[in-house]
Amino acid sequence: MIAQNFEYLVPTSLGDAVNLLQKHAGRAKIVAGGHSLIPMMKLRLAAPEVLIDIGRLSELAYVKEDAGKIRIGALTTHHTVETTPAIQRRLRALADAAGEIGDIQVRNKGTIGGSIAHADPAADYPAGILAFDSTIVTLGPQGERHLPASTFFVDMMTTALDQNEIVREIQIPVSTATTGSAYVKMAQKASGFAICGVAAVVELDASGVMSNVAIGITGVGSYAFRADKTEAALKGQKPTAEIIKSACDKASDGVIALDDIHASADYRLDLARVYARRAVQAALERAM
Ligand SMILES: Cc1cc2nc3c(=O)[nH]c(=O)nc-3n(C[C@H](O)[C@H](O)[C@H](O)COP(=O)(O)OP(=O)(O)OC[C@H]3O[C@@H](n4cnc5c(N)ncnc54)[C@H](O)[C@@H]3O)c2cc1C
Repeated sequence: MIAQNFEYLVPTSLGDAVNLLQKHAGRAKIVAGGHSLIPMMKLRLAAPEVLIDIGRLSELAYVKEDAGKIRIGALTTHHTVETTPAIQRRLRALADAAGEIGDIQVRNKGTIGGSIAHADPAADYPAGILAFDSTIVTLGPQGERHLPASTFFVDMMTTALDQNEIVREIQIPVSTATTGSAYVKMAQKASGFAICGVAAVVELDASGVMSNVAIGITGVGSYAFRADKTEAALKGQKPTAEIIKSACDKASDGVIALDDIHASADYRLDLARVYARRAVQAALERAM
């Protein structure tokens, strides 16, 4: 299908993009990599009257390491997230997730800012964004806001972004402790989207005790969530197969799972338990 007609605007700076978004409030949409929005426009699931193309704003495409955090510009492509050495070294689960997105064409065009702003329930990044306790930095007419990931994903394709705000960067703290992280997923075969994707970050103290554990799960519910009960059951424990299994059996407790042609709700809830275990084990192997 062909998208409805629209006006196409190319801002020259981030500030210009925010101004255009405000000027055309309610009628306009940002386009970055276009790999979620354009298919939706072709299917007429989205019909913006104005497209503001930020894809050429090189000021938004970077990965920087400073003051105990890694800062990833919103226009950083999935391929860059996958292959940047600092991310591979310090935020392995995020590099894993980026490398699992779609195919190489999608990874070369799609952006991390576009993915999290879109908030598809089956997107890969949200699991790691949550597990790494990231902060999403936005820019709007009122200035900058720093939104914790825990409050960013609100519902299916719904975030805490205001209508006139743009995702500027993602800030992720890097731990100095012995840490390992991993992302594992059961992919929908045709698209690669997650039927269940789990990111685990495990910190070990000098005696081998799990001093901190964070687990983010995507694909299972209408938006990504942290497996709080599993995290609590693992923290302060020495990792054994029994302890990990018993903790991960709680990974989907209380979750209302999606139920669709790809997987039933019960199957997704079970996948969350199994993939949480695999992610924790993989993270531990990388921490040791
Ligand atoms: C064949 C195919 C397979 C795919 N497989 C996967 C997969 O396995 N896993 C996965 O996670 N994803 C998958 N995707 C989606 C892909 O990751 C997209 O690149 C991503 O979801 C959106 O990024 P984008 O830059 O293309 O955003 P766009 O399509 O340009 O925009 C998406 C939405 O985000 C908004 N937006 C974009 N950038 C910003 C910003 N900086 N600030 C505020 N709002 C913004 C837009 O207004 C729009 O509403 C797939 C896509 C395709 C076409």
